[in-house]
Amino acid sequence: MSERPLLTADPKAGFLAHAEEIRAAIERVLMSGHYILGPEGEAFEREFAAYQGGGQTISVANGTDALEVALRALGVVAGEKVATVANTVTATISAIQQIGAQPVYVEINSSDCLMSAAALSAVLARSPDIKVVIPVHLYGRMADMPAIMAVAEQHGARVLEDCAQAHGAEINQRKAGTWGHAAAFSFYPTKNLGALGDAGAIFTNEAALGDRARLLRQYGWSKRYVSEIPGRNSRLDEMQAAVLRVKLKYLDEENRQRRHLAAHYTSRLSGSGLTLPPEDTFSVSSCWHQYAIRLPRRDALREALVARGIHAGILYPVPLYKQPAYAQGVKLPVSEQACDEVLCLPIHPGITRDDVDRICDEIMKYFRP
Ligand SMILES: *Cc1c(COP(=O)(O)O)cnc(C)c1O
Repeated sequence: MSERPLLTADPKAGFLAHAEEIRAAIERVLMSGHYILGPEGEAFEREFAAYQGGGQTISVANGTDALEVALRALGVVAGEKVATVANTVTATISAIQQIGAQPVYVEINSSDCLMSAAALSAVLARSPDIKVVIPVHLYGRMADMPAIMAVAEQHGARVLEDCAQAHGAEINQRKAGTWGHAAAFSFYPTKNLGALGDAGAIFTNEAALGDRARLLRQYGWSKRYVSEIPGRNSRLDEMQAAVLRVKLKYLDEENRQRRHLAAHYTSRLSGSGLTLPPEDTFSVSSCWHQYAIRLPRRDALREALVARGIHAGILYPVPLYKQPAYAQGVKLPVSEQACDEVLCLPIHPGITRDDVDRICDEIMKYFRP
């Protein structure tokens, strides 16, 4: 008997879990005759802001645009520098580069693979012209925002949180996206809150910043055909907004499922010799977008798992400063080691506790055949 393949993400399972409600939401949009920036988008923006505990949501076409529009709203222009990490998705760097700004890479902690506040402090001391810092909350776990905000404040830099993998993650009961001056979310189908196509949003508690982002996402229009500032087009369509309104209702419950799966992985794999991701604590709560283990020669384990229908992912194999398009002569040893060693095991609501047992059994067999 060949067993069910276990995928790194399963957007179809995410649809099927709420199929009836999603179909009804799409039908509602079809019949409304309103397909771009209408009542569904406005309702989603309100509901997502309420989920964040107040503030402003500005929906845009995808997560990369959310980063770019937020950077522009924060006043970043061509030739300026933006501090961020090298072990992230290309999108983070692409957004900086679209403006003509330059990424300055900050080393990560080896304990959690997230931006090191101490390294940030050194970078900002060396480059006082850096106006904006983008910490990336990788794998669902938030970077050390209390420390990063303190360092940024000390140097007069503004902070844009990359929350594309952190919907609902918290530190001290405060959600990802509410710590920085602004935040960028992606609702790409594989994210914890995923649409059925491209979607993204900027979140901020600063009214002026939100207003500026709102102008920037549509030609700089304050009202139709009146451009206050130069802008672009990055709008969320009504169908994706309606789908996201359904999915948002289940986000906390689905994050809880992920948390249980993570705890099960950790209990099964502790003592295996693998480096496991840091556990949740009373004050730090991951939304477990990924369960990222680390080991030397991870490619061999990955191939063995794939041969058994278990699709482990590598987020991310190459630091951004080594990509041909974004090459820079820097070297961050901790980031490079993370890129060499990390392996992400399947974790999402389409995975069961039994699936985790099957995956852990295969990993044990790999080490002790
Ligand atoms: C997915 C992702 C993005 C980009 O989102 P898109 O919607 O695909 O443009 C940005 N940053 C991180 C960390 C991501 O995981």
